[in-house]
Amino acid sequence: MIKRIKALERASQPLEPNAEQRRAMLDSVIPYTEDFLESLPTAPTYCVTEDQGRALLDHPISENGDDLNQLLDLVRENLDKPGINPASGGHLGYIPGGGIYPSALGDYIADVTNRYSGVFFANPGAVRMENFLLRWMAELIGYPSTAAGNLTSGGSIANLTAIVTARDARRVTAAKIPRSVIYCTGQVHHSVGKAIRLAGLVECVKRDVPMDQRFRMDAAALEHQIAQDKAAGLNPFLVISSAGTTDVGAVDPLGEIGDLAAAHGLWHHVDGAYGAFFLLCDDVRQMLESICNSDSVSMDPHKGLFLPYGSGAVLVKDREALYNAHCYQANYMQDALAEQEELSPADLSLELTKHFRGLRLWLPLKLLGLKPFRAALTEKILLARYCYERLKEMDNFELGPTPDLSVVVYRYIPQDGDVNEFNKRLVRAIHADGRVFISSTQINGNIFLRLTALCFRTHLDTVDLALEILNEKARELENVG
Ligand SMILES: *Cc1c(COP(=O)(O)O)cnc(C)c1O
Repeated sequence: MIKRIKALERASQPLEPNAEQRRAMLDSVIPYTEDFLESLPTAPTYCVTEDQGRALLDHPISENGDDLNQLLDLVRENLDKPGINPASGGHLGYIPGGGIYPSALGDYIADVTNRYSGVFFANPGAVRMENFLLRWMAELIGYPSTAAGNLTSGGSIANLTAIVTARDARRVTAAKIPRSVIYCTGQVHHSVGKAIRLAGLVECVKRDVPMDQRFRMDAAALEHQIAQDKAAGLNPFLVISSAGTTDVGAVDPLGEIGDLAAAHGLWHHVDGAYGAFFLLCDDVRQMLESICNSDSVSMDPHKGLFLPYGSGAVLVKDREALYNAHCYQANYMQDALAEQEELSPADLSLELTKHFRGLRLWLPLKLLGLKPFRAALTEKILLARYCYERLKEMDNFELGPTPDLSVVVYRYIPQDGDVNEFNKRLVRAIHADGRVFISSTQINGNIFLRLTALCFRTHLDTVDLALEILNEKARELENVG
């Protein structure tokens, strides 16, 4: 038996490369990532390849390993080429972010050291770091120091966490669900609908609150609806607003909604996955600062702080509410809260063992300071305003609402023919070109194109290029049509 154990030990040795082998691995990986970064400015932002990465399937997992350089070739061909390149400054669709390099180093360190960040006693430093970052975000939001939160994998889980917390805090138990009411606008992100369903609240009454011309929640309409619902014996308990809608970047009147929520005992959740970090910009701070007038907020460092994907955050003003909804040893709650210096992520989220997300956020913030983040975000606000002004001057483009943040919405009105069909063809032509990527959406049943400036690599020349391509493709399509 000893012989066999020893043989297995030798056979498992590749799991622990020695210093020289590690060096050799890095000597392959670093040139690959350097190549990727150096070629970004000229690489396409969007590409449809013939096999869409299917060649990966020709390389099954087998007993013996392959050569690292060959594997990196496979990655280069099948992952880096087809689809959207979210690292590219030309990514102007949906809500981009980019993926700053020091975060990758944070992940590298977190993965090599494999810190257990789920529970305080397992790695107090890791939990302190994550809670410290959450307190920094809470301060940015304007929450008191008694707020708590969790670093999530993204905005969707942040929204789910907040909605579950709201449900429990307002004691919406099964029997109350059919007469409990949730309020949001038609512009709320689809992850909210998903979270409502996952939270078991799909049978609640859902009110689509009317919006103003700029797609912001109409607070007077909300008040009217709440009053009506209360009079009808319903149980209004949750209003979800957006600090930057995904479609048009509209910021709901957070202060008024917060006041109404407080007056009527509703939980106010703000989905700030796209826009909350714009609080760092003096230019738009005023529009966002009433975000403090809420019970919970979602925000996405993998959008607004340009982190690689897998970084969201949820903040809850009343930490006991978050704890009560997520802890797994509820009966000692009060004492534990009083005694623990730092709450453990495992008690504040649906995860136990998890990726140590703190380091990928802490390292860039500490290494670079806030200044470049503020600058990049403010630049994006100004780029959107610039883009809006330029589009105004361009022939036959119709503009959506003035951008609150960094999303510009517009469409082309052709000389004749179906406007929606034309704009669908226009977005397809831009995708086929691939130098930049923009997305489309539907507003009041019409197809509109969107340009979102949020990637830290998006600059003035990117926006100029996008406008040039828009003009060029629209003209080409006009001539064909
Ligand atoms: C992106 C986004 C989400 C979803 O966040 P993920 O990080 O993609 O899960 C939710 N709400 C808004 C407003 C968003 O922009």
